[in-house]
Amino acid sequence: MGIIEDVLLNARTAVDTVGKKAGQVIDVSKLRLASADLRSEISRKYQILGRVVFEEATTGKDYTKNKEELIESITELKGELESVTEMIAKSSQKVKCEVCGSYNSKNAVFCNKCGEKLSAEEDEHMDTDDMIDFTEDNFEDDDLF
Ligand SMILES: [Zn+2]
Repeated sequence: MGIIEDVLLNARTAVDTVGKKAGQVIDVSKLRLASADLRSEISRKYQILGRVVFEEATTGKDYTKNKEELIESITELKGELESVTEMIAKSSQKVKCEVCGSYNSKNAVFCNKCGEKLSAEEDEHMDTDDMIDFTEDNFEDDDLF
């Protein structure tokens, strides 16, 4: 949990920074890292939850409290994942012009303010293929066992 919290803190700090200093792009890679960590943590807790359910069924012991804690924790993590996913989406919407610093839509080829050609490197900020992996539906499909 410590690592997750650190990463989330970094993600939030990145977003705060953007709020304070207009003209700075959120570090999408940090958000992606946070997203990946959250998903693996959720996956891990699903596994534990499964084990608890199995133990309960086979030993007849009551693990209700453990289950409730796990479900609460997973719900919380899913909420965090949702907001990180949203931050990734938001940070991918705009492309910053290296010359004048103005923001352009992600599909723009030239800056709408100064006319500078927007660099190809910007494309890497928004590979929407990656984004698809962050959606909840895909996540659940991948993690059913
Ligand atoms: Zn420009």
